[in-house]
Amino acid sequence: MRFLFILLLTLAACDSFQKTKVDSMPKSNTKSVVEINGALAVKGNKIINAKDKVVSFAGSSFFWSNNYYNANHFYNKEVVKWLKDDWNASIIRVPLAADPTVMDSHLYDLESNIENIEKVIDAAIALGLYVIIDWHSQHAEDHETEAIAFFQKMATKYGKYPNVIYEIYNEPLKIDWDTVLKPYAENVIAEIRKIDPDNLIIVGTPHWSQDVDIASENPIIGYDNIAYTLHFYAGSHKEWLLNKAKKALDNGIALMVTEWGTVNADGNGAVDPEYVKKWMDFMKEHQLTHCNWSVHDKDEGASIVKKGTNPKGNWTDDDLTESGKLVKSYMVNWKND
Ligand code: MG
Repeated sequence: MRFLFILLLTLAACDSFQKTKVDSMPKSNTKSVVEINGALAVKGNKIINAKDKVVSFAGSSFFWSNNYYNANHFYNKEVVKWLKDDWNASIIRVPLAADPTVMDSHLYDLESNIENIEKVIDAAIALGLYVIIDWHSQHAEDHETEAIAFFQKMATKYGKYPNVIYEIYNEPLKIDWDTVLKPYAENVIAEIRKIDPDNLIIVGTPHWSQDVDIASENPIIGYDNIAYTLHFYAGSHKEWLLNKAKKALDNGIALMVTEWGTVNADGNGAVDPEYVKKWMDFMKEHQLTHCNWSVHDKDEGASIVKKGTNPKGNWTDDDLTESGKLVKSYMVNWKND
């Protein structure tokens, strides 16, 4: 009997110790990045959270959504969770294949591409991450009607979530900002804003989203929460692109690096650690948010994991490519606020 009494007393003590431990843990540890920061907005050349604080997030971009490229076996909740827990990702980009040169893209196969991206969007929302819905095309001005229909659908379904960011044109080619790109953006933005008045919209810029300086000389006016796309690949894009980015910021537009790579602009070649560091320092200094290209095991320099790696996460260091290792080292140390 006495033994039983002592046992019960011990159990009670353990229980209250457990409770004290849990209660004394800072609350923020259990909150997701979106619970902490809420809806994002653009203020001057910065992106701010719901408390008016300038924020900068690090994350990953998935690869094209179409079935042919076979990157969509990574399109699952387990990988999104792995990137969040093991890589410290706070933002995920999901590229809807929407280019006319990709024969099973959304332009020809609406259902499977939507089905694929929604797995990632829903996972990101459930896990409390930001998620960029990207119209992944290099010819979007030729398919404005389809782009508008797509974003109407996304805004209707997801516009109420603070997690969601619309990226309306991945990488325009060498086309004119004033007469082609800006009108495309204004038309798409007008339709999104009829449904979703507030979530961030990121606008593609000429020359594979490098000519942010040109966009900054004639920015879009009349809408809130508009930022501009800057893409860089450390192997190809050096001082001259850093200078363009600096000029755009000085002219007062907000930038988001929705896609960047450690290698050459074609997604291949060797990692350039020196210029990755320069770009990371620049993005820290100017508090830019960025997503690395890409979550794939394709035999190409930019892939973060090696061929045949588990498509559900649980990756060891040995599963990571040179690019994957370098990207992860920056992401785990990024202060996501
Ligand atoms: Mg909204």
